[in-house]
Amino acid sequence: MSHQSTPSPAALPSALPIGYPRIGPDRELKKAEEAYWAGRIDRAELDRRTRALRGATRRRLADLGLTAPAAAPESFSLYDQVLDAALAIGAIPDRFAAVLDADGRVDDDGLFALARGTAEQPPLEMTKWFDTNYHYLVPEIGPYTDLHLATSRVIDLFTESLEDGAGTRPVLVGPLTLLLLAKAQDGAPEGFDPLDRLDDAVAVYVELLSRLAAAGAPWVQLDEPALAADQRVDAAALAVLLERSIGRLAAASDRPRLLVTTPYGGIGDLLPSLLATGAEAVHLDLTRGEIPTAAQLAGVAGVQLVAGLVEGRSVWRTELPTAAARLELLRARVAEAGGDPAAVVASTSVSLQHVPHTLEREGSLPAELAATLAFADEKITELIALAGGEVRTGDVDGPRSVPRTFAGVRHEAVRERAAAVTAADAVRTDYARRAEAQQAALGLPALPTTTIGSFPQVGEVRAARAAHRRGELDAAGYERAMREEIARVIALQEELGLDVLVHGEPERNDMVQYFAENLAGFATTEHGWVQSYGSRCTRPSILFGDVHRPAPITVGWATYAQSLTPRPVKGMLTGPVTILAWSFVRDDQPLGETAAQVGLALRDEVADLEAAGIGIVQVDEPALRELLPLRAADHEAYLDWSVRSFRLATSGVREETQIHTHLCYSEFNVVVGAIDALDADVTSIESARSRGEILEAVDPDAFPRGIGPGVWDIHSPRVPSAEEIAEQLRRARGVVRAERLWVNPDCGLKTRGYAETEASLRHLVAAAHAVRAEEPVVSA
Ligand code: GLN
Ligand code: ZN
Repeated sequence: MSHQSTPSPAALPSALPIGYPRIGPDRELKKAEEAYWAGRIDRAELDRRTRALRGATRRRLADLGLTAPAAAPESFSLYDQVLDAALAIGAIPDRFAAVLDADGRVDDDGLFALARGTAEQPPLEMTKWFDTNYHYLVPEIGPYTDLHLATSRVIDLFTESLEDGAGTRPVLVGPLTLLLLAKAQDGAPEGFDPLDRLDDAVAVYVELLSRLAAAGAPWVQLDEPALAADQRVDAAALAVLLERSIGRLAAASDRPRLLVTTPYGGIGDLLPSLLATGAEAVHLDLTRGEIPTAAQLAGVAGVQLVAGLVEGRSVWRTELPTAAARLELLRARVAEAGGDPAAVVASTSVSLQHVPHTLEREGSLPAELAATLAFADEKITELIALAGGEVRTGDVDGPRSVPRTFAGVRHEAVRERAAAVTAADAVRTDYARRAEAQQAALGLPALPTTTIGSFPQVGEVRAARAAHRRGELDAAGYERAMREEIARVIALQEELGLDVLVHGEPERNDMVQYFAENLAGFATTEHGWVQSYGSRCTRPSILFGDVHRPAPITVGWATYAQSLTPRPVKGMLTGPVTILAWSFVRDDQPLGETAAQVGLALRDEVADLEAAGIGIVQVDEPALRELLPLRAADHEAYLDWSVRSFRLATSGVREETQIHTHLCYSEFNVVVGAIDALDADVTSIESARSRGEILEAVDPDAFPRGIGPGVWDIHSPRVPSAEEIAEQLRRARGVVRAERLWVNPDCGLKTRGYAETEASLRHLVAAAHAVRAEEPVVSA
């Protein structure tokens, strides 16, 4: 690899984002896929629509100025980029062998089978992608998985981009990250680690790269975000694995140039190893990671640095003078280390897949706020300005985003209240005492059955909400429609025989946005969709100012629901950490301060629910794990403020008021301590998709509180049988104290249909009754 003193024509262009949203500005991908899954369109029409989406995306990126070869990322994925990489190397677990044709190839229906499950097989497990709200599918690999090129999608997409006159940069999750994210397939021998298959995986990547070279791709991007997080192997081992993966790929003779990205954080001491692999370009997240020193850059000669200076996961406009100064500093250090400063590229910290497409279509945001925002397209414009050198250079330590000073950013009463909080505001009495008081008040049977909150959002409910928003349905009509739905859902739950009921959340479009719309300090977008997983998108609100609660939010709905039934109805709130995690959050104060403000606003709501006679309040924190820092060294500080904000929300209640929380992920070993620290009386957790593995982490003595491991995977349309659920309950009862075991689905039912919901809940109740009867359980 020869050192170039000026960027050669083969070099990467001076500005590039490492990824771009793929759902389409009008959620075209979602609409096409859901129509296909529902049988409303056929494969040819699905192909036609996704093809049109890719064409439009390439045109848009070119219009924004990404015209040079390899400037625009080829970010399209039919469902998930990790699944794409797994399929590319044939990492298909034995239980899905049927998706491979006689030539060992998998098509889009096979892809959907792994992603969504089939009548026979549950889908691949789904979990959060680093500390984002994007979910990827966890590859399953065994010692004998036949790793081979099972799809040519990456190559086809590149060829297609040439047809469009674009010549994009193919993007693929790299081999090291793929195997670090993978898990051993069921039945793999004890001690087997997917990393054991690294050499075989790399061999397939070598073949893939040679095909890409043959197709004419000048560059390929391999994403290795695993380098930015603590892993099950230490940094020294990672350095060796880097050489065995990226190093080997770079040594292959027949390949495009390699850009290796490391989004989501700093890579610390791994930089020299990465620079030594022979990859022609290395990307660094310089919003979370530090600008490397000249010493750390010792191996930079001949390597193009791709400087992730524009925050790709926030919606704030970059303070360009600061970014320009940091770019200059980096260039100076590259020069000092013997590299080519002119070859440094301006880039984003992470893929822009985490922000909406464009601000252009947002007509109703307050103008002062809008002036401080940048979505994906605006961030690309920032990159181009930065790279073009037309930006005034400011202070390296200046603000990273454009300062915000308009009305609503500061609310003095909120600040005074937060400053007056004492430790006593965040503690309840002893759990054992509370448990007794609650059992006396609630009188629940052993293995109580409940749901997580939402019921299917049928067409009429969504239509009523939309009509209300458009002003076509007045407040009274809307109230009536929601009450009808609540009454239906209560009657259904009584008929099914559930023990603790919910009102069904029909009034909520989204569990965070609903609160954002009813709390001060937030703004809402009209088209700001981002992909959550597969076809699922969310429209995060923008938390820009001090948060408080002008008026009660949920009390009317909860008390109406409770008035319809003698059984307890849970009040249902979204917790502070989740509100932060699923919104775009201000970056002008520590997250902990913002979380405390939200916690105090929710505390008022909890108090009002209790006063209105609601005996159980659930405060969902599905995102607690998601915001957990990627480095263990940062966990304590995070858990401190996140737990405190939850406790601020929930500690103001009487002993007999039962606080529930809901967590929504499957590998939670890391936060078992935090769950304990939340001090909720009952915690429901997702676990069906990982087939109960979660329970292995629970020590019944260390975790005396109520726990409801999900027994129905609601992310898939599949209906579990009563026997299957009973089996999970028997297993759970062997691990957690029987008197503390709750029976519930994995998550809310909002996205499910009524047919599978009724059938599954019937099975769930039947299973609970069967297991209750098998062995008399002593209740506490
Ligand atoms: N209460 C919410 C619901 O049922 C919880 C959803 C979630 O955990 N994501 O929809
Ligand atoms: Zn959930």
